Amino acid sequence: MNTAWHAQETDEAIEHLKSTTDGLTSEESRVRLARDGHNEFTATKGKSPFMMFLDQFKDFMIVILIGAALVAGATGEWVDAIAILSIILINAVIGFVQEYRAEEAIAALKAMAAPNALVLRDGKRSTLPASDLVQGDVVLLEAGAIIPADLRLLDTAALKVDESALTGESFPVDKGVETLAAETVVADRDNMGFKGTVVTYGRGRGLVVETAMNTEFGKIAQMLQEGEEAKTPLQKSLEVFGKRLALIVLALCGIFFGVGVFSGQPLLEMLLTAVSLAVAAIPEALPALVTVALALGARKLVQQNALIRKLPAVETLGSVTYICTDKTGTLTMNSMEVDTVYVAGKVIRAKDFEASEATENSHDPFLLAMALCNDADMDSNGEAAGDPTETALLVFAAAHGHAKLELEKTHPRVAEIPFDSDRKRMTTFHRRPDGSVFSVTKGAVEALQADETILAASNDLAVNGLRTIGVAIREWDALPENLDASAEEDLDLLGVVGLLDPPRAEAAEAVRTSQAAGIHVVMITGDHPGTAGNIARRLGILDEDGVVMTGSELSALTPEEFAAQVEDIRVYARVAPEQKLKIIQALQDRGHYVAMTGDGVNDAPALRRADIGVAMGITGTDVAKEAAHLILLDDNFSTIVNAIREGRRVFDNILKFLKYIVTSNSGELWTMFLAPLIGLPIPLLPIHILWINVVTDGLPGLALAAEPPEPGIMDRPPRDPKDSVFAGGMGIHIVWVGLLMGLVTIASQWLFLHDNDVHWQTMVFTILCLSQLGHAVA
Ligand code: ADP
Ligand code: MG
Repeated sequence: MNTAWHAQETDEAIEHLKSTTDGLTSEESRVRLARDGHNEFTATKGKSPFMMFLDQFKDFMIVILIGAALVAGATGEWVDAIAILSIILINAVIGFVQEYRAEEAIAALKAMAAPNALVLRDGKRSTLPASDLVQGDVVLLEAGAIIPADLRLLDTAALKVDESALTGESFPVDKGVETLAAETVVADRDNMGFKGTVVTYGRGRGLVVETAMNTEFGKIAQMLQEGEEAKTPLQKSLEVFGKRLALIVLALCGIFFGVGVFSGQPLLEMLLTAVSLAVAAIPEALPALVTVALALGARKLVQQNALIRKLPAVETLGSVTYICTDKTGTLTMNSMEVDTVYVAGKVIRAKDFEASEATENSHDPFLLAMALCNDADMDSNGEAAGDPTETALLVFAAAHGHAKLELEKTHPRVAEIPFDSDRKRMTTFHRRPDGSVFSVTKGAVEALQADETILAASNDLAVNGLRTIGVAIREWDALPENLDASAEEDLDLLGVVGLLDPPRAEAAEAVRTSQAAGIHVVMITGDHPGTAGNIARRLGILDEDGVVMTGSELSALTPEEFAAQVEDIRVYARVAPEQKLKIIQALQDRGHYVAMTGDGVNDAPALRRADIGVAMGITGTDVAKEAAHLILLDDNFSTIVNAIREGRRVFDNILKFLKYIVTSNSGELWTMFLAPLIGLPIPLLPIHILWINVVTDGLPGLALAAEPPEPGIMDRPPRDPKDSVFAGGMGIHIVWVGLLMGLVTIASQWLFLHDNDVHWQTMVFTILCLSQLGHAVA
């Protein structure tokens, strides 16, 4: 029976778990981790290596072949039997090694994509794998976080949690810290946070009270075992193709067997030959090899900072026609710095601010507001931590005598309305030493009831590429009851800050590469249209005379009107996250394959809907990462473009491999078939055929999968996934090149037999092998 944590006072719970409000020391947590184990659900075991190895023999044709070889051995042909069995074994080992490597690569990716938690350890914020949490840890929660363990909440600020995964309740639940009656049911335990549920709004802090299988989610985790990894479109079509091919090959081998026996060949020998031919000619390993190629591609991508969460994404990457990307942090450096401010009717460069202040002396409220309405922190060494937009303001205010830490002592925060990208502003409420209350709101200038003059001033800053934040204040008689939009009205705008966030150096090049590759780059940002337009022009996303569409313009359009122009719009500004979904849908309706970036909690639906959802590894929330197909470990736009190049390479190589292997098999079939037809002896023994299969299928296949990209891989348009892999003449190639190999082989067989050379079979074997390897090189 679990403890009724919700019925304990917060300090009671903390004491119960021998913790503190600042969490555990790392030493103590190590002890507890060793004692209680990791905070993860006992995973279903993957296939053991031994089972994986056994699986290599479960193919029907292989079983027949083994049977036939054993019979041959029993009738005295034991040298042949042993040779055949050895070859089957070698084949199985190669297959096993490949599959094992792929599994390993996939497991490593999974481990890298495992969720983190923001924890207080040794009194400091640190980001740790959620599986390292132990009872007594103190966890920090913010919007977009997936709660990493069961928590008794210690403090909350407008905290809302979506518990639908646990309770089925679809509306987010308001959370608090009040102690509840012991009999309160799980769905009503509002002072608890449950593992696996999602913070949709606000902030909070909670004490880890249960981990792993002891959490509410852990108790039902058995029901939620992950399903099979979805197959990619290519794998699906290859499976269909493989089955069809297998039937054709079986039919041909059946005919071959029948004709042979009919014309007086020994039965067992014919059976062995026919089955060997079937084993060699049926590309049963194709789907597995595609997985190997995708998994190895994914492993390579990780080294380039692109973490694949869903394997099929590697393949889809090559088909992307639109990249819709954030601006801040993805195309820009996210290294914000105050460049210019607009205050008391004057535009002042940051470097001149000191001087002007001496004469002006009344910028104090502006600076004070900047410091207080701020969730970033600065330690005693002046090191700031938090969102770059906020730290820039914090540093600027501190540099001009308004340190947040000091100010909060005299003006404590008594309430807040957190930032979200729909409202594009945040508000904090403070009490002065004399008891009076005021609030500070900062955010997009349009969201602060600015007048024409201020809007124009802020626009001037924006068109020069600065990110603008307005800062406003309001006096209150008492703390308002309702902390909603009504508390963000009647504001007194103090000024506007213009932040410099330069474009990333490599971004312009990456944009050019995409455009050459037939991929359109679209910027979608919550920022001001002026800022967005300026940066987009500098990066070559927008022509000099191109226009920016704002979120409100977008919502005024009918779906038909929007559909008519969606392909031409390159920059969207001041959009709400929900509108990203609309943009994706409009593009997909026109047959496009869309990669979309996102970081916030509201971006998750768009990330899921996109053909490639791309989450930010550094600034992204848990929810965004969970929804994404691809995580950018460096938040960098050019990483997306590199990933697309890699996706195209992997796909190219799979096609090369496919073309090679099916053509080779066709060559073997032609040889074995045509020779008896024109009156020559059967060219090869079963063991030859099997050995050719080992030499020419597995290893050259792996080599082809590792081929470097073709030059010009990014100078051609994206591949339409609806195109058959046999489009572009591959089918004809397979037939005629195979026939050519067969004819060359048979011609040499005839030639050497004609000369009464006893080594004719050696020549047939060698020529068939070499013509296949020659084809691989070609
Ligand atoms: P993006 O990430 O596309 O630049 P955001 O949603 O982060 O867009 O920001 C949109 C707008 O919200 C910004 O232009 C700014 O005015 C405002 N904003 C952003 N961050 C903050 C913040 N921490 N506090 C207040 N306002 C903010
Ligand atoms: Mg942002």
